[in-house]
Amino acid sequence: MALNPHDLFDVRSLLSEEERAVQDTVARFTNERVLPIIGDAFDQGRFPRELVEDIAGLGLLGSSLPEQYGCAGLNAVSYGLICQELERGDSGIRSFVSVQSSLCMYPIFAYGSEEQRMRWLPDMAAGKVIGCFGLTEPHGGSDPANMKTHARRDGDDWVLNGSKMWITNGNLADIAIVWAQTDDGIQGFVVEKGTPGFEAQEIKHKMSLRASVTSALYFDNVRVPEANRLPNVKGLKGPLGCLTQARYGITWGPIGAATACLEEVLAYTGERILFDRPVAATQSAQIKMAEMARRITLAQLLVLQLGRLKDAGAMQPAQVSLAKWNNCRMAIDIARECRDLLGGAGITTEHAAIRHALNLESVITYEGTETVHQLVIGRELTGINAF
Ligand SMILES: Cc1cc2nc3c(=O)[nH]c(=O)nc-3n(C[C@H](O)[C@H](O)[C@H](O)COP(=O)(O)OP(=O)(O)OC[C@H]3O[C@@H](n4cnc5c(N)ncnc54)[C@H](O)[C@@H]3O)c2cc1C
Repeated sequence: MALNPHDLFDVRSLLSEEERAVQDTVARFTNERVLPIIGDAFDQGRFPRELVEDIAGLGLLGSSLPEQYGCAGLNAVSYGLICQELERGDSGIRSFVSVQSSLCMYPIFAYGSEEQRMRWLPDMAAGKVIGCFGLTEPHGGSDPANMKTHARRDGDDWVLNGSKMWITNGNLADIAIVWAQTDDGIQGFVVEKGTPGFEAQEIKHKMSLRASVTSALYFDNVRVPEANRLPNVKGLKGPLGCLTQARYGITWGPIGAATACLEEVLAYTGERILFDRPVAATQSAQIKMAEMARRITLAQLLVLQLGRLKDAGAMQPAQVSLAKWNNCRMAIDIARECRDLLGGAGITTEHAAIRHALNLESVITYEGTETVHQLVIGRELTGINAF
């Protein structure tokens, strides 16, 4: 029996029935709703907001959170499969879901009061309230401890000043989860759109994640009520806890992008006749595609074990770092190689490879650059902090 070229080790057989059903549902959504429009959306630099209602309707927002907040209550492996299938369409669509789910709904769930959970989570799960997450600042995202944005207590309010940079969903968002220095360490605040002194400015001229909104946020004496402070966390472990959740999803996403590129190039090289034979009949093309399949297979097995560890409550941040580093590097190398195998045809968005390659430039950078994750593993191995 022929093997499935996109799942050579039959990793799917290791999934539960429910996990397979989740994968199939999201795969159908990507095929029917994302793929027909995404090339144009990327060209136009437009986030396809019209997809949000269906994304919410499928239960993909905050999918791991409990049903009492209007969420699907799925396990971590299912969340990973959601990310993988969405990113087979486009990293921008997966980024939207990652930010809403892991960077905005998760902190409200994990660090918020019950009142805050009930106030925001059901509407966020329904896609009626969109969130963004403000941690990175203009002077250097890799060192978030050096945070300049600060919040000062003033009566029943807090007064925020500072700025955030490279914020996904910034101009779409109804609420921003903003991390700021206080006299009592770093704390998280829910800043609502329209609050005086709060401004979002979209970042233009991006060559990557063009079907995603990225913004700078500015805070000029923004008054935030005490009721909007997340009460149950203090210190950098607050935002870092969110990033571990989001990075976990990101370890799965690039597998989708890489698979899409391999699928495209298998079809193209099978039909492209050069020197009287298909390009796929040449040894060098086969070696390149075999190499891609090898790396995708390893990535699939890596994230499945990571997901099982997460579901067992045993996942460590350093394991997420290794998987994020490996899988982003795997996917960006494959997307670039596929672009090359498409020849000139590979430079337009009519084919997906260049769009994925460009998107992956962001994916390999955000949520900790490749270097940062390498240094995390170095620290784990040696016990020496080399940052
Ligand atoms: C499209 C996009 C969306 C994003 N969305 C969000 C979001 O929603 N919310 C948010 O808060 N942030 C977001 N980010 C920010 C992202 O997390 C940062 O870009 C990232 O953390 C890197 O920070 P930086 O860009 O300031 O680069 P820098 O930190 O300035 O890094 C510059 C270079 O220095 C290297 N470097 C850093 N430290 C070391 C070291 N110790 N040794 C050697 N080299 C080092 C880095 O690897 C990198 O190559 C987004 C970024 C992008 C591009």
